[in-house]
Amino acid sequence: MQDTTWDLNPKFDFRDEHGVRRGKKVSLAKIPTEFEGPFSGKEHGVAFKENAIDEIRDLQYQMFTEAKQSLLIVLQAPDAAGKDGLIRKVLGQMNPQGCRTYPFKVPSSEELAHDFLWRIHKATPAAGKVSIFNRSHYEDVLVVRVEDIVPKSVWGQRYEIINDFEKLLAHRGTRILKFYLHISPAEQLERFKKRLDDPTKHWKLNAGDYEARLKADLYREAYEDVFEKCNFRHAPWYIIPADKKWYRDASVAAIVRDTFREMNPQLPPVDADLDEIRRLYQRELGKQ
Ligand code: ATP
Ligand code: MG
Repeated sequence: MQDTTWDLNPKFDFRDEHGVRRGKKVSLAKIPTEFEGPFSGKEHGVAFKENAIDEIRDLQYQMFTEAKQSLLIVLQAPDAAGKDGLIRKVLGQMNPQGCRTYPFKVPSSEELAHDFLWRIHKATPAAGKVSIFNRSHYEDVLVVRVEDIVPKSVWGQRYEIINDFEKLLAHRGTRILKFYLHISPAEQLERFKKRLDDPTKHWKLNAGDYEARLKADLYREAYEDVFEKCNFRHAPWYIIPADKKWYRDASVAAIVRDTFREMNPQLPPVDADLDEIRRLYQRELGKQ
């Protein structure tokens, strides 16, 4: 039994701490990958996270019943930075009736025969719902740029198209949160090693992940451009120090919780005549 009482409401603004400043060039190399925020250590962070998840679930329920607003969570990260773990341990804890995860892989030939937002738009959340994007439309200015899949004249125009698209979603009542999980090259290599050592993770091994490490500088530049060009109040970027998995989970949970609080979803007004329903209930009770 844990006998320490953790402060589950520390005075710490996670959105302010990790939110990318608007219109400013970010230098990813200067942002720490290891951080403990207001927590005294792992146990504190885990207790905070559990508490935040409980509140997220309540607020998600209210948003579902309200059926007006929606939430889109975008996850981007280098390989092994922990998108899957974050979904499993935090975001996937929401009620699946109102929440769905969409992984975006290399586009199919059908997807490639359409504009790059075609497959994305279909996955955006309806009123009351949450969508989680495991990778996203940002791949179309990240891997596509670094790997030279289309020329600069094409990907260069996409930032503005993405901004217009996200504005459209916001206009409809969708809040957008974009997370970049920031890990150090050393921590990434350590996680690659764990995958090699664990037969249940061998299916994840991919020589391409090592190729991407050779292009780390190009990815860093591509991400820095995204943070500068596609970062707005209605669709902000957060850079999450992700070397410590527990801090990654706690800080994302805090940001999602604080955003839900701000959205302030309300249970719908009661249509039924409560006195009449109580009377019917009493009638049925009397028959027992
Ligand atoms: P993990 O971290 O567990 O490896 P993952 O998200 O990397 O998960 P993978 O199946 O390994 O999943 O990789 C998906 C691949 O699809 C990534 O390399 C990504 O860059 C690529 N991809 C996603 N969207 C696009 C796109 N629009 N164009 C080209 N490649 C894309
Ligand atoms: Mg991968």
